[in-house]
Amino acid sequence: MSILIKSVLLNGKEVDVFIQGSIIKKIGKNLGIDRSSTHIISGKDKAIFPSFFNVHTHAAMTLLRGYADDMELHTWLNDYIWPFERKLTPEDVYWGTKLACLEMIKTGTTFFCDMYWHVDAIAHAVDEMGMRAALSSAYVDFEDPKKGDLFKKKNKKFFDSLPNVDKSRIKFIMGPHAIYTVSRDSLIWIRDFAKERKLYINIHLAETKKERDDCLKIRGLTPVRYLEEIGFLSNKCICAHVIWVDEQEMDILKQREVNIAHVPASNMKLCSGSFKFDKVLKKGLLIGLGTDGCASNNNLDMLEEMKIAALRAKMGSNDPTCAKSKDIFKCATQNGARMFQINGGEIKEGMVADCILVDLNHPQMIPHHNLISNLVYSANGDCVVTTICNGKILMQDRRVKGEEEIIKKNKAIAASILKRM
Ligand SMILES: [Zn+2]
Repeated sequence: MSILIKSVLLNGKEVDVFIQGSIIKKIGKNLGIDRSSTHIISGKDKAIFPSFFNVHTHAAMTLLRGYADDMELHTWLNDYIWPFERKLTPEDVYWGTKLACLEMIKTGTTFFCDMYWHVDAIAHAVDEMGMRAALSSAYVDFEDPKKGDLFKKKNKKFFDSLPNVDKSRIKFIMGPHAIYTVSRDSLIWIRDFAKERKLYINIHLAETKKERDDCLKIRGLTPVRYLEEIGFLSNKCICAHVIWVDEQEMDILKQREVNIAHVPASNMKLCSGSFKFDKVLKKGLLIGLGTDGCASNNNLDMLEEMKIAALRAKMGSNDPTCAKSKDIFKCATQNGARMFQINGGEIKEGMVADCILVDLNHPQMIPHHNLISNLVYSANGDCVVTTICNGKILMQDRRVKGEEEIIKKNKAIAASILKRM
């Protein structure tokens, strides 16, 4: 089925957008399209934009939303998050991921990069919801060689027979959690395995001062220099946080063409530190935007995240002219697509049909002086009325297929996990 979006606003002009298969086939005035096999959407009072690319999250942490707030990162992780996660079954993670997908679709996101447990269950949830994703299984060995060997075997087995899902939308990548939870030996193994299989690597890096100080004490190097020393860094690395880095480390990251996942809400909530948005951008590093998981945000709304990113950057550099709305919007859309070599993130002929329609009559979108400014600073995910991914409509007029069941299941599952604690 093809889709024709009639008379929709694109960059200030009213046009028709024709989607065929998974691609934006044609954009123009009054397109003469055979309507017999075409689904027509009215673009009246709507504007079309690329959908969002959330480059760092832990989707199924929706189940932990509101479970543990207002704590220091390491207490939060060790005493609350990890004990809760040890009780999660693949079934729980499947439904938690579906809830995350539902929330993302409702707020205009069609791609996310994930790291979590039970990746098989996650893959099936994403496949059924019709989204695009890069999924990694969390790899942690806590310096225990036995655990390291187990994870190596598990990963090899997993990549030898990947889940049966739509591989054009779903990529599988490596997910070493961080330098303080994964041994040097395992990091080197991951480096080689990823190179051999041409896989992306998703890792948390230089998130807290404690991580940097401990690394200096144990390895005699800062986290970025430590990874550089073992030849880990490349353009296939997606590094989340990257807060505790100096100028020279930014140069190393630039030289290795490392991709940065900036997660401002999580960094602020956990007081991890201040990401140097302006400096990192000026170095020419590719910055994408992520929400992190729902235990540290506590939602997956990329519109809200854009505003927080802009305000955080201005506050951090004491410069209101930095982190302009167009730069932030680019981080949330085309930069995320570029990182994962997806031909998307922009509304152009030949690109993948991953897009949203925004309600131009939504109070937060009025008036129309600057729609990008409205999206970054004013609106939230509610202004999105239609979400399309890979040429398929995932939400129309704010309705997503199966949403009632997802809500019902998640309420029941969250209650049942507490009983298992
Ligand atoms: Zn994370």
